[in-house]
Amino acid sequence: MTSGSGIQIPSRLPLLLTHEGVLLPGSSVRFSVDSPRNMQLVSQRLLRGTSLKSTIIGVIPSTRDPQNDTDDLPTLHKIGTAGIAVQVVGSNWPKPHYTLLITGLCRFSVSRLLKERPFVLAEVEQLDKLEQYTTPATEGVGPDDGELGELSEKFYQAAVQLLGMLDMSVPVVAKFRRLLDSLPRETLPDVVAAMIRTSNKEKLQVLDAVTLEERFKTALSMLTKQIEGLHLLQKTRKKSPDNEKRLVPLRKSGRAFPGRQFNLDEDDDEDGDDVTALEKKVYSVNMPEAALRVCLKELKRLKKMPQSMPEYALTRNYLDLMVELPWSKSTKDCLDIRAARTLLDNDHYAMDKLKRRVLEYLAVRQLKTSLKGPILCFVGPPGVGKTSVGRSIARTLGREFHRIALGGICDQSDIRGHRRTYVGSMPGRIINGLKTVGVNNPVFLLDEVDKLGKSLQGDPAAALLEVLDPEQNHSFTDHYLNVSFDLSQVLFIATANTKATIPPALLDRMEVLEVPGYTQEEKLEISHRHLIPNQLEQHGLTPQQLHLPQESTQEIISRYTREAGVRSLERKIGAVCRAVAVKVAEGQRLAKAEASIREGAAVEQEDKAVPPELPIVIDHVALKDILGPPLFDMEVSERFTLPGVALGLAWTPLGGEIMFVEASRMEGEGQLTLTGQLGDVMKESAHLAISWLRANAKTYQLTNMVGNPDPLEGTDIHLHFPAGAVTKDGPSAGVTIVTCLASLFSSRLVRSDVAMTGEITLRGLVLPVGGIKDKVLAAYRAGVKCVVLPKRNEKDLEELPANVREELDFVTVETLDQVLNAAFDGGFTGTHGRTHTPQLNSKL
Ligand code: ADP
Repeated sequence: MTSGSGIQIPSRLPLLLTHEGVLLPGSSVRFSVDSPRNMQLVSQRLLRGTSLKSTIIGVIPSTRDPQNDTDDLPTLHKIGTAGIAVQVVGSNWPKPHYTLLITGLCRFSVSRLLKERPFVLAEVEQLDKLEQYTTPATEGVGPDDGELGELSEKFYQAAVQLLGMLDMSVPVVAKFRRLLDSLPRETLPDVVAAMIRTSNKEKLQVLDAVTLEERFKTALSMLTKQIEGLHLLQKTRKKSPDNEKRLVPLRKSGRAFPGRQFNLDEDDDEDGDDVTALEKKVYSVNMPEAALRVCLKELKRLKKMPQSMPEYALTRNYLDLMVELPWSKSTKDCLDIRAARTLLDNDHYAMDKLKRRVLEYLAVRQLKTSLKGPILCFVGPPGVGKTSVGRSIARTLGREFHRIALGGICDQSDIRGHRRTYVGSMPGRIINGLKTVGVNNPVFLLDEVDKLGKSLQGDPAAALLEVLDPEQNHSFTDHYLNVSFDLSQVLFIATANTKATIPPALLDRMEVLEVPGYTQEEKLEISHRHLIPNQLEQHGLTPQQLHLPQESTQEIISRYTREAGVRSLERKIGAVCRAVAVKVAEGQRLAKAEASIREGAAVEQEDKAVPPELPIVIDHVALKDILGPPLFDMEVSERFTLPGVALGLAWTPLGGEIMFVEASRMEGEGQLTLTGQLGDVMKESAHLAISWLRANAKTYQLTNMVGNPDPLEGTDIHLHFPAGAVTKDGPSAGVTIVTCLASLFSSRLVRSDVAMTGEITLRGLVLPVGGIKDKVLAAYRAGVKCVVLPKRNEKDLEELPANVREELDFVTVETLDQVLNAAFDGGFTGTHGRTHTPQLNSKL
């Protein structure tokens, strides 16, 4: 068909070369252009032109990706489509490009190329009549036009049939239906081919079909293929009518938008299978009656729901979780107390009391075959092996282990989940943990129960109570799940740094097992038995490559770490391993290089270093090289160069610590200044101490700076507790403050190897305090020789390791008088016993 009378496109057309997307007459396509020629066409022609004619361009498929638009022109397809650029949008991101919306008008063929730069201009021949598009549907080709008429009728019927299979409520489908009746028949092949799902290759076939007859035939075969496909799909899927209606084998308003054209996709189909599979699973996981009922109800809803609804995904996720939960899956307990003892002993050095109690607990459980009983709670400083014992317990029982970190949780939905009505709702940590381990009888380690927070969102401790209570936890209801789950087979173990902040109701349900810190000797053993072999293995080293002698480990323990547990010790050993790993790896490279030199290969010998001799021994010097200068001084005595310094012992959740108290005096009006972030109780202790000293100044010959019998007359006192950034509180510093001030007022030095703890009363009595074990261990770590402690704390000393008891002197006291006596060399002036009273000095 050649151009007849009617509207003519210009005979010279600028050509837009397209690599993807084929424009057909009667439809609109969005093209993104960024190649030099096309960009020039847009900027010099489309953006500059003012007439309607200047917006008409030829769109021609080219063989080459315009990305590679080099100097020579790619091969052009012989037929293109003239179109009007309806919209031009420019953008600089991610690189300069234009997006053109072009509506196709008619076919053309290229007669002659006029120029190639800056854009392609060609002389063209119009192939379709343009006025066709303005002829009403009733005119043009009709059923009476012989063979062509028949073809067009057939095509029309096929298109109607396709639409009949679709959901008319979808706007694109309805629009298509209207178009079908209003457009002249001869335009239908182009329009329909652009609207249904066809490949670029198929569209090119339609474009190349210049005669109407050929075009009808080509497009008809595509249409029939589409209908057959749809038929097949409808037959294979036995879906509810709702789903069938959703099939939309159309492109939105016929434009070549990237993305889906048809909704006949495989996912849909897969999904149908998926839901069936899900249903099967729901039946197969053996969930309790109530849960099954809920699942079936949700499944029913899911089947009715269109996939595009947001709720579909929510329901789906819920059901997925329900079938994943271990409703009836469990591991078999294999408890053999003798094996358990060996395993615990092999995994952990020392901590005898804890291991004994754990074994008792396991034995009772074995005899009773029931879990009801207290929940074990390990309380102690970080790094003393609480988590690791928990893990061993799981291993001895042959159970799965899961750690739930509770530190900082302040919302009860963290434990119990969010209701499903919330956006982003999810199950709580308990249910999540069960999903992770995949069995219903794991060991759950509730880590850091002392760090539970509280907020407006409810008290997580209350939710935990329900979890831990054997009377309630067989029907624990997570808000997200909304059906109860039986937690009675789960073995819970809790850990905490301190008992003080565990919510009382929780504490009530737990049996607290204190895990104290380790002594130097224990740490040394733990290092050589566990930490060093572990770290070597983790760093890919062997004992033949790295040797850490006892003295070096000792030095790491005493001069590079000061902690109750062994966590930073483990890190330091790790640091040593890393440093050695570098040396070993370098050595291997050197050895290889040497070997190749020996073989005569031309390797430059620029690197003269010799491979290190193995094993690399870490001595004092090597330690300093790797870990830097020591962090802690062993010598406490250096601090005691002036009167007014005393050494106290403090307890923190991280273990015991030594604490210096310093005092100074200056002229003033009897004021007391306290610094070092003290809590109220500590401030009161300071006032108590001063009052007692003033009241007893005469007895002990305490004076102010000029020798007057009232130590505060014309004097200001400043008491400071170093490590000023750390908040300190508690009554146990009482004796230390008294000693420190007594030293100041008497201008005598306190013994540098004495540390003390104890609460005081106004009348000079010393009351018992807590945390003795940790405090004594801290004193021992710091190299103190003598510890002064309240008489009523004597019983606590029994829990100390034997070697600590042997090496330290303990002075148990009932009155401040005795404290002063012990704290100063040769006793204190005015005290009842001027020398050490032997019966007070107990060597336990
Ligand atoms: P916690 O839970 O008390 O903070 P971890 O259980 O995480 O401490 O222990 C820290 C590291 O110290 C682990 O590698 C652990 O194996 C090791 N560890 C602690 N105590 C011992 C011990 N008595 N014997 C062997 N290894 C120990």
